[in-house]
Amino acid sequence: MEKRALGTTGLQVSALGFGGFHLVEIPTADAARLLGGYLDSGGSYIETAAGYGDGKSESKIGAAVSHRRTEYVLATKSTERTRAGFLLSLEGSLRNLKTDHVDLMFMHSVQTEAEADAILGPGGALEGAEEARKAGKLRFVAISGHGRPDGLLHAVKLHRFDALMTVFNYFDRFNFPTVENDLLPLCRQRGTGLIAMKAFGDGYLYKSPVPAFRYALSMPVATVVAGINSDAMLKADLEMLSRFKPMTDTEKEEVYRTAPELGDYVCRLCGKCRTDEFDPQSVFLLEAVFDRQMDDMRVRDSADYALRERLKQWFLQKDVAMKEYAALQPKVEPARDYSRLSKLCPHGIDVDRKLKIAHEKLSADGYIA
Ligand code: SF4
Repeated sequence: MEKRALGTTGLQVSALGFGGFHLVEIPTADAARLLGGYLDSGGSYIETAAGYGDGKSESKIGAAVSHRRTEYVLATKSTERTRAGFLLSLEGSLRNLKTDHVDLMFMHSVQTEAEADAILGPGGALEGAEEARKAGKLRFVAISGHGRPDGLLHAVKLHRFDALMTVFNYFDRFNFPTVENDLLPLCRQRGTGLIAMKAFGDGYLYKSPVPAFRYALSMPVATVVAGINSDAMLKADLEMLSRFKPMTDTEKEEVYRTAPELGDYVCRLCGKCRTDEFDPQSVFLLEAVFDRQMDDMRVRDSADYALRERLKQWFLQKDVAMKEYAALQPKVEPARDYSRLSKLCPHGIDVDRKLKIAHEKLSADGYIA
């Protein structure tokens, strides 16, 4: 399996990472078979978190492959923000994983600048991580987060982490553009290894696995972590990797133009509908933070509805979006006709309708979230 360098850590990891979240959904024997099969295929990056099933994912990994510990880079995560909490969490993870050290330990799900400050400040989790590193219980300190990367950007500006994991897919790139525009170049400049998660948009891109996987793997990331909980899934991921060719810029543009998940609703941020007095992108970027532009208020089948309902607030930044919209000037005037702007959109987006939907979501004028 293709191996890539993880920043400046000196670690080489397989381009397909094994995400352990979904191991909580299957029996231990199945988890052992999948993890063993992954390692047998040359996979070398296994990742989990203390919080996945309250330690169950870690325990299954420990039971299944701790006897092969030298064959893989092992990563886990903690949501603890204090030194003491972090150290306690790490001890629990080591017990569950049946090992004396992890290779990477993530400060997990860092969403806000305040969380980053807590981790990096006096008595924060970073102190615990450095202490654990000196004691040989972890090798590298990493950070992870989803959604708009306010907390991640703040953290990496203040501290050079060894690795960073966040969302890379062709859908969320239009929801959280600062990931590719700001966070990615900053990490590369600082030698922080990049790890991709949610290449399939938490399942939202399930009908387009090949372009979704190719897109994520074509980013300058060391590994794409995929949640694996069945033989079919492992086989499909391995096959896609074996046929992988980096996406060209032209191919990417084609995906942005034609992907059904973007369709005629997700704003591609091209700026063509901007006028001197109003920029619809400022509203759509907040709609993205609110619900990833997932609810387009069109009636579809129940499976599609259920998927969107489950995923649209996955990143828990709805309140941030509403607060920022309250301060935004100018905002959408619901009685105004913006249809002139719709004619300017090369992606067929009904800008007038979308602005009014976004306004309804962001101003809580009767929108049921
Ligand atoms: S023209 Fe369309 S894609 Fe471009 S910024 Fe406006 S709504 Fe978004």
